[in-house]
Amino acid sequence: MKKNDMFFIHGTDYREMTIRLLEACNLAALIGDTGKSVALKPNLVTTTPPEEGATTHPEILAGAIEYLQAHGFGELSVMESSWVGARTDDVFQVCYHDRVCQRYGVPFYDMKKDTYTTYDARGMEIAVCDRAMAVDFMINLPVFKGHGQTKVTCALKNNKGVIPDFEKRRFHALGLTRPIAHLNTVCKNDFILVDNICGDLDFEDGGNPVVMNRILAFRDPVLCDAYVCTAMGYAVDDVPYVRLAEQLGVGSADVTKAHRVYVNEPLEEFGPGEDAQDRTGRGTESVIRPSGRIARLAKHAEQREACSACYGALIRALSRMEKRGTLRRLTETVSVGQGFRGVAGALGIGRCTASFARSCPGCPPDAADIVDFLEEAAENCPH
Ligand code: SF4
Repeated sequence: MKKNDMFFIHGTDYREMTIRLLEACNLAALIGDTGKSVALKPNLVTTTPPEEGATTHPEILAGAIEYLQAHGFGELSVMESSWVGARTDDVFQVCYHDRVCQRYGVPFYDMKKDTYTTYDARGMEIAVCDRAMAVDFMINLPVFKGHGQTKVTCALKNNKGVIPDFEKRRFHALGLTRPIAHLNTVCKNDFILVDNICGDLDFEDGGNPVVMNRILAFRDPVLCDAYVCTAMGYAVDDVPYVRLAEQLGVGSADVTKAHRVYVNEPLEEFGPGEDAQDRTGRGTESVIRPSGRIARLAKHAEQREACSACYGALIRALSRMEKRGTLRRLTETVSVGQGFRGVAGALGIGRCTASFARSCPGCPPDAADIVDFLEEAAENCPH
């Protein structure tokens, strides 16, 4: 498999599809010596099961482990750190990855408990977990999905799971773009297996899955994310960390120069928004667009350097209020993020807005608590 290859497979037997895809990519040859240590890094961002569109399906993890073990790789591990505010162990269980690791005898490491070392990531100091840097070969298992702040999240941003929590907070304080791009100049990105089964195209933490039943493979994380941008109807420059990662030498964002390989026959008919591909493998891509709900809900919020968990909980809460018919009564803007620390204001979410006249406590607060808080605030809004 070459650096500019993009492999696609579709179907519903995700474990079998993963094995078939990895055979087609000849992953074993890419890794080389079977004595090498190989790590798998899923997306276990928050406690929502994979069918909700936020987290990596366990069948993909199982298929990858089966493939690697069948090819003689014995030193395997799974590692991840959930977002700030979630316990990785809880997500590990909710997403069924605990059962996969147990079944195949592969250890799981919570990166929140790992030690770290600070690296010079092309002009930016970034702390990265030691265990993630010590492996010989890293397989990234991101989910193809949308994100409330960055529009798109896939391979590059999934590597936030190999940095400590204090570093994740700093990333948000710095606005995500620069740190995500710079992180990828030092962290390991040897192979990317994308869960494109049912990602939520609006919310990073899921809830609105869009079924596509595909698994994709890449060697270049920039190409991977550039492809996801175009498949979701964005220009690469709409997601600035992709272009910056390219400029820093992480990979190529030029999807037009990529070579597409379709491992199985294309479906006769695709659902709304899915790719249509011809038998030559060149493909004619249609675009899967996010619903625009995030943009509509975000008009009620002002975010400054907000962590994903906090911002996501606020958007989720606003979404619930919209469904309950209470959002129209909220006439004040809701502030969220580290940029509001020590600032005076009216209505805020999270510990960072503790100095506001009214602030929903928590770091991050739960969406349910935010709903209660905002509905009460909406009752007192000047109508
Ligand atoms: S209150 Fe929210 S924005 Fe502030 S540090 Fe906590 S999670 Fe991040």
